[in-house]
Amino acid sequence: MTLDKNAYQRIIENLNDGLYFVDNNRIITYWNKAAERITGFSAKEVIGTSCGDNILTHVDEQGHLLCTGMCPLANTLADEKVREAQVWLHHKKGHRVPVLVRVSPITDQYGKVIGGIELFTDISDFAANAVRVKELEKLAYLDHLTGLANRSYIERELAARFGEKERYNLPFGILFMDIDHFKLFNDQFGHDAGDDVLKFLAGTFTANTRPFDIYGRWGGEEFIGIIRNVDAGALEKMGNRLRTLVESAYLVRGTEKHHVTISIGAAVANADDTMDNLIKRADILLYKSKEAGRNRLTIG
Ligand code: GH3
Ligand code: MG
Ligand code: MG
Repeated sequence: MTLDKNAYQRIIENLNDGLYFVDNNRIITYWNKAAERITGFSAKEVIGTSCGDNILTHVDEQGHLLCTGMCPLANTLADEKVREAQVWLHHKKGHRVPVLVRVSPITDQYGKVIGGIELFTDISDFAANAVRVKELEKLAYLDHLTGLANRSYIERELAARFGEKERYNLPFGILFMDIDHFKLFNDQFGHDAGDDVLKFLAGTFTANTRPFDIYGRWGGEEFIGIIRNVDAGALEKMGNRLRTLVESAYLVRGTEKHHVTISIGAAVANADDTMDNLIKRADILLYKSKEAGRNRLTIG
């Protein structure tokens, strides 16, 4: 799928999630439109200020300031690790907004940390997922069997992620997943049982999806997860967590208890990747997982 430049521009300007960059001194250098909407602070008000300046104070559940000692961004600048946290932002009007944040370091061409990226999303609306399903349906982006996004939507999302990567250097990766020996499963228990397994897997994905990530059905018994603001280490960890969750879950049908496992190919988008070759790389890595015995993840 190819998109023209205007389409990219539109997608980027309409990102739902807040995004900001800081330098090593935690001075804010970039602040997107969604960040303005979620916090009430305009880019003009926050760029050049530091996260500790009492504008953008992150607080924990009890209202304790996180700027000293517990700030996820500061911790990531120090240990260079991707991390996630649920915090409360201070809205310009005074109230607190619960957000999920994922922070990653920005490195220069030599691998030296020169700042950090925080992606954040408003989680005050717990019905957001139901709304999203309705939206997908309206736009014909819903896979009706599983209730996940369909292949067209995944392609659209990937285009948006490539746009973010090109424009902001925001990293992302994909998890390409395929059920192990699913043909055997269908042969043994029937196609309807197979369909129930697809639905149950989709439920496992949905229940474990961060709001800024997305899982969709690529086709048949193949799924793709698009994971934003991660490096290879974090992507591998998330993929393996999902794989283990699937492995340990089971579906009860009548008197039968069904298990399946999945194999995963995980790939972080490179500078010269296109959508097609990113998926192709992940597919090859998935094939390696199959060859190596299944129920495993291969990253490359
Ligand atoms: P492998 O571990 O190598 O992936 O083995 P496999 O049997 O899963 O692989 P293969 O790609 O050969 O088979 C995929 C099977 O998935 C074929 C088909 O029976 C099943 N399948 C694909 N889509 C659906 C679906 O919508 N419903 C059901 N019940 N089965 C499906
Ligand atoms: Mg397959
Ligand atoms: Mg399979």
